[in-house]
Amino acid sequence: EAEREIEFFFPQEQTLAVIKPDALEEHREEILEQIRNSGFTISCMKEAVLSREMAEEFYKEHREKAFFSQLVEFMCCGPCMLMALTKENAVEEWRAMMGPTDPAVARETAPESLRARFATDILQNSVHGSSNLQHASEKIDFLFGDIVSDGDLSSHRDAADTLL
Ligand code: UDP
Repeated sequence: EAEREIEFFFPQEQTLAVIKPDALEEHREEILEQIRNSGFTISCMKEAVLSREMAEEFYKEHREKAFFSQLVEFMCCGPCMLMALTKENAVEEWRAMMGPTDPAVARETAPESLRARFATDILQNSVHGSSNLQHASEKIDFLFGDIVSDGDLSSHRDAADTLL
């Protein structure tokens, strides 16, 4: 009797990932290698120092939070690596690789995660990832709008992979 296989398919998704200034200098290669080894395609990438205005816009959902000004300051304090990552279930998978916001929690609950390994504290926590598809497409448009139109990132894929 033929064995029946059940397969689960997740749609291809794109998420926005950032290596934050605290991690870029020391951990860039390790983080990029883990991204590639986990089956993500880096569809777009660029290194940039965000202006204050860009950082404020990027984190506008947190405008009312007590930590907002510190967060903006931190995000502008040095270069970030901005990336659009493509994979099945990319939003959730990249969030899982990052681990919880607070590295103290990450070390308890997800010791293999990037934040458990590389983050300093709840502010300087080494990586960012969109929390849903809506944010992902909005932030990708915002950060890569100058080189991408109509959400079509495919033509930039080879260029991005070459950079690695
Ligand atoms: N953050 C902070 N203090 C907090 C919570 C968050 O400084 O109490 C910073 C931290 O850098 C975090 C970012 O604000 O990554 C955005 O917060 P969010 O709650 O969206 O966490 P994330 O989605 O990055 O895990």
